[in-house]
Amino acid sequence: MVTPVTFALLVWLVVALSCLGIYWFGVHRPARSASGRSEPVDRSAAFAAAGSASASAQPGRPQRQAGGLRQRLRPWMWAALALLTLPPLLVVLSGWRLRLSLPEQTPGTQDERLAALLAGEQLVPPPPLPPEVFARAQAEGLAVEIVSADRRWELLDAGFRQRLLAVYKAMREQGYEMVLLEGYRSPERQAMLQRQGPQVTQAGPMQSYHQHGLAADSAFLREGRLVISEADPWASQGYELFGQESERYGLRWGGRWRMRDYGHVELAVPEKKSTAPTAG
Ligand SMILES: [Zn+2]
Repeated sequence: MVTPVTFALLVWLVVALSCLGIYWFGVHRPARSASGRSEPVDRSAAFAAAGSASASAQPGRPQRQAGGLRQRLRPWMWAALALLTLPPLLVVLSGWRLRLSLPEQTPGTQDERLAALLAGEQLVPPPPLPPEVFARAQAEGLAVEIVSADRRWELLDAGFRQRLLAVYKAMREQGYEMVLLEGYRSPERQAMLQRQGPQVTQAGPMQSYHQHGLAADSAFLREGRLVISEADPWASQGYELFGQESERYGLRWGGRWRMRDYGHVELAVPEKKSTAPTAG
């Protein structure tokens, strides 16, 4: 792989070799051949030329002319050499210092699927389930206030929606059909849920990523019924899988919190939210 530093060094090498070639074939060799390989003569001619520039330009004395040209070009040659040598030297030295001080970079994208997702693979939300499915789960005491919850995928942040749909797809491939229980949640509803106690939510209005369309609560669908219980071994295994897949897609999973919320995931965008309690 060609890094910018390697590329810069290659460009520099080509420029440096070109300059060297121009100097060698354009100035040095003509000067040598003109002086007839007689260095002392050439040098004295050069000194004479340096002494009086007009004298060196006399006709019929090519060795003096060439030697004078070389003499006059010498300071420029050193300046050019310094200009050509210093920048790459600084680049190499700073590169080494960076490599010494910084830990080895991990690959930007660990998972091909995340790369494909971010590259624009658009996933479509599943069709909505009949309201009775949620009413029954609420009546059975499996969940609180899910009948009135907002399940509109279009109210979710586009990036978060794609990640969550990718998680659903991965879960489906492993035998778990996922259902969105709640996505966007208004500040008023957040306040209402908070009043029901810390077992429901610890976050107040605007303290949850649900208010930014960046969080969602999900459950499993088994034989047309919602399964929202980590006591169920099948669901327990499913939650673990859900956590793994969510984290693979860059989401934060509520199953890691002290007040575990296995069905909750969020896309953490810290600047979106002033306070960030680990609850939602
Ligand atoms: Zn939640």
